[in-house]
Amino acid sequence: PELQFTGMFAMTERGHGSNVRGIITEARYDQSTQEFIIHTPSEDAQKMYIGNAMKGNYAAVFKMSFSGPHCFIVPIRDQNGFMWPGVTTIDMKHKQGLHGVDNGILIFNNVRIPRGNLLREFGSVSADGLYSSPVLSKSSRFNAMLAALTPTRPFTHCVFSTAGARHCSTRRQFGPKDQDEVKIIQHQMQYLRLMLAAALALTFTTRYAAGLVDDALCQGQDLQSNRALQALVAGLKSLQHVGEHRGFMMENRIPSLKCDSDVFVTFVGDNMAMLQVFIKKNKDEFFMAWNACLHHVNTLAMAHRHRVTLEQFALALRQCNIKRGPCLFCLHGTRMVYQERAWYLENNYMTLNTSRQIRSQVFTHLTTVLNPKTSKTKAWSSTFSVTVMTPKVSLYQ
Ligand SMILES: Cc1cc2nc3c(=O)[nH]c(=O)nc-3n(C[C@H](O)[C@H](O)[C@H](O)COP(=O)(O)OP(=O)(O)OC[C@H]3O[C@@H](n4cnc5c(N)ncnc54)[C@H](O)[C@@H]3O)c2cc1C
Repeated sequence: PELQFTGMFAMTERGHGSNVRGIITEARYDQSTQEFIIHTPSEDAQKMYIGNAMKGNYAAVFKMSFSGPHCFIVPIRDQNGFMWPGVTTIDMKHKQGLHGVDNGILIFNNVRIPRGNLLREFGSVSADGLYSSPVLSKSSRFNAMLAALTPTRPFTHCVFSTAGARHCSTRRQFGPKDQDEVKIIQHQMQYLRLMLAAALALTFTTRYAAGLVDDALCQGQDLQSNRALQALVAGLKSLQHVGEHRGFMMENRIPSLKCDSDVFVTFVGDNMAMLQVFIKKNKDEFFMAWNACLHHVNTLAMAHRHRVTLEQFALALRQCNIKRGPCLFCLHGTRMVYQERAWYLENNYMTLNTSRQIRSQVFTHLTTVLNPKTSKTKAWSSTFSVTVMTPKVSLYQ
């Protein structure tokens, strides 16, 4: 069918983005006409950064009411592009990436919409103005509404490594005296920078998470209470995008992809704030304490992502039966521990000597990956054995 109307998602306001509780767009109910009146009471309430604001016909406008963010469908312009009475849009002009869509500001001046334009999964208003919700507790309602948005956020890792890997597997620079230069992928640090094993692991994990979301959606499962899935999706989104430094040429599209992917640090939910979906309970009640240990929450969320990534990587490699799979797995796993060594050292889970051993293991695995003939990796179970002291408290307790 022909696409007749396009829409936009309007949650962020000038005054508040991550803290959805702070949004102040108004929606008053007029019982005499059975309409909601959507209004922007102040500059801080203007909806900002809204994708497709300059072209779209309808906006899903969020406002805080009845103890939770509720979503109203508000007409913005008709099919011929004429603005709906009371709606103003302002183009936010050029941005770093995602040039395929324009972002703008939405301002509502007492815009009237029918009562039925309130999306009703989490709450509705009867003709005589009474609010009811299937979720009775106010805090559960708030969490349920936001959680509903989390798992469906897009998976957006742009893994640019393919172009980089190709280039590095053919180009040669430096080498032993009087011999051919070596492929640049064989330079130890170059391979690590490309993070091919990590890219592979994340590809499998992303597929796994996408499959979980698909299954859950198809089977009508309750995504809101699936905290583990939400944490995984948020964790995957928060990844730094893997870049390949060769691609400064515009023809490789890497600069523009990089510009697009950078925006995802905050777009569709700021990464720092999203990582916290891992633990949500009583966050506001104990805000100061919560804020003081935010770095632990962050580490915990990362650890969760690392664990699922390792599990999925192992599973996928077994299924694919890739010849160098075990070496890749060991390289990725050891590298992850090495990468996080500061935390292990700080918390006495690792000694300085262990840290050095792990670094040397990373390079041993790297040599094996780059030169399969020297492979000493025989079995899955015996090889991935970094000597980290047994933690007194498990990260997952
Ligand atoms: C290109 C682009 C397109 C967008 N499109 C849309 C759209 O279509 N619809 C829409 O509604 N919104 C859209 N947004 C807005 C986007 O969702 C918000 O930018 C995002 O939610 C963050 O909000 P904020 O910018 O107000 O930052 P703030 O929430 O003010 O955060 C600012 C900084 O403080 C940090 N911070 C905030 N809270 C915490 C916390 N609890 N813990 C640790 N650190 C914290 C953040 O990490 C961030 O670095 C878009 C943004 C961009 C850049």
